[in-house]
Amino acid sequence: MNFSISNRLSKIPFSSIREIFEEAATMEKSGINITHMEIGRPDFDTPQHIKDAANTALQQGNVHYTSNSGTLEFREAIAEKLKRDNGIIVDPQREVVVSVGCKEAIFNLIFAFINPGDEVLIPDPAWLEYQYIVELAGGIAVSVPLLEENEFLLNPNDVRDCVTDKTKMILINTPHNPTGAVLPESYLKELADISIKHDLLVVSDEIYEKLIYDGEKHISMATLPGMFERTITINGFAKAYAMDGWRLGYAAGPAALIQPILKMHQYNTSCATSFAQFGGTAAYRGTQTPVEEMVKAFDERRKLLVSRLNEIPGVNCVVPKGAFYAFPSFKELGLPSKELATILLREARIACVPGSAFGNHGEGYIRMAYSTSYDKIEQAMDRMQKVINSLRVKR
Ligand code: PMP
Repeated sequence: MNFSISNRLSKIPFSSIREIFEEAATMEKSGINITHMEIGRPDFDTPQHIKDAANTALQQGNVHYTSNSGTLEFREAIAEKLKRDNGIIVDPQREVVVSVGCKEAIFNLIFAFINPGDEVLIPDPAWLEYQYIVELAGGIAVSVPLLEENEFLLNPNDVRDCVTDKTKMILINTPHNPTGAVLPESYLKELADISIKHDLLVVSDEIYEKLIYDGEKHISMATLPGMFERTITINGFAKAYAMDGWRLGYAAGPAALIQPILKMHQYNTSCATSFAQFGGTAAYRGTQTPVEEMVKAFDERRKLLVSRLNEIPGVNCVVPKGAFYAFPSFKELGLPSKELATILLREARIACVPGSAFGNHGEGYIRMAYSTSYDKIEQAMDRMQKVINSLRVKR
C-alpha cells in the first residue's frame, strides 16, 4: 500500500516547534519543573457566568446543529459588540459567520478567495498558520518584514514594495503575535490607502484586541473610510475570555465577503458547537470585569518581564503594547534562535518559542508568553539571567 499524501499537504511542514514541546514534556515526566512561556493562551479559567450560560444551554437540550452562520442571538450579540467596541456596523443576518475558532474563519476565507498563484502579503514574523493556509490553498505567501528598529510595525513602504499585479490580499494582525506591536492609526490609514489603490482584500485579525496596554487604542481597519467593503474582520474568544478550548471565533464584514466564507464553512464544520455559542453570547453581553482583571494581571507581568529582559546584557526587548508576548532579541549572542530555545529549556527550565518559528525575520528572537504567574516569571528570569551570562562568558 502506498497512500501518499496530497502534493498540497506534503509541501507543508509539521510545526517547527514540536521538538521543543516534546523535550519539555519528557523533562516534566522525569520530574523536572518547567516554566511554560511557550503557549499562546491565557492561564486563567473561563469566567463563571460564561460557563454557566453554556451549562444551562446544554441542560436545556441545545445539543443540535445551529444555523450554519451561528445562532441568530449570538450573531446579534457579535453585531452589538462590533458596534459598541469597534464602530463596525454589520447586519447579523448576512454579515457575520461564527466559526470553530478564529483559525477556521481564516482557513475558510483564504480558501474562499485565494486562487493558485494569487499573492497574499503577510507580515514576517507572524502567526505561521497564515502562511501555511495560503500555501495549502495554492496561493503565494509574500512576507513583509517587521523590523525591530521600527518597533515591529508593518511599514507601509515595505508593503508598497511587495505589491505586484498578482497581489490579492493583505493580512494584518493588531495587536500582533509574536511581537505585541499595536498598529497606530497613521499606519492603518496608509495601509488602507495602499489597499484601495491596489484593490486589495484586507483581513484584519483582531483576536488580541482587548489585551492592550499603556493607553494604546485598538483601531479596526474596517472603520477607516472606504475600508468596510474590502475588509474581513476576524475576532474570537480564545484570548480575552480565556476560552481557547471552546473553539469559537467569527468573521464579519460586508455580505459579499462573508457569504463566500459561509459557503466554505458549510463544507468544513457546518457550525460551531451549539452550547459553546451560548457561552460566547454571555461573554459579549455579560460583565467585562473578568477581562479587565486579566488585562491588569497581564500588564503587571509584561512590565516585570520586559524590565528583567532589558537588564540582561546582550538582550534587547522592544516594549510590547498588546497581546501577551514579549519578543526579545538575543542577536548579540550569535546563536540560532532554535539552539537558544533548547539551551533555555535544558539549562534555565524555561519553555519558549524560537523566533524563527514565526518566519525568517524572527531569527535571533525568542517569543515568551507572559501567560504564566508573576512569581513564576520572576523565578524564571533569575534562571535565564544566569544562563545568558554564562553563555556570554563562554563565547
Ligand atoms: N490569530 C492569531 C494571531 C493567533 O495568535 C491565534 C491563536 N494563537 C489565532 C488567530 C487562532 O485563534 P483561535 O484559537 O480562536 O482559533
